[in-house]
Amino acid sequence: MMKLDLNESIDDKLRKTRARACFDCHEYCIIDVNNYKAIQLLQQFEKTHRGHRTQIVNLDDLKPKSPTDIIYTCISGVNKEE
Ligand SMILES: [Zn+2]
Repeated sequence: MMKLDLNESIDDKLRKTRARACFDCHEYCIIDVNNYKAIQLLQQFEKTHRGHRTQIVNLDDLKPKSPTDIIYTCISGVNKEE
C-alpha cells in the first residue's frame, strides 16, 4: 500500500516536471528553478548541447512507452528526492 502511494506521487510529479531534452544525444536535464544545483546543471547542459536540437518537454513525455522507444538519460538526477 505504502509503495503504491509513493509510486503515484512520483508519477504525479513526473507529469508536472519539465525537462530540457537533446534529441541528438538522447539526454535530458530537469528544469527546477528552485534548485540551485539543477540550474547549474541546466546551464551546463545548454552549453554542452549548443547547436543540437533541444526542446523543453514534460518529463513524462520522455518516459518510454514501448520497448522500441528511445531511452533518454537523465544527467541531473535531482528530480526524485526533492
Ligand atoms: Zn546534444
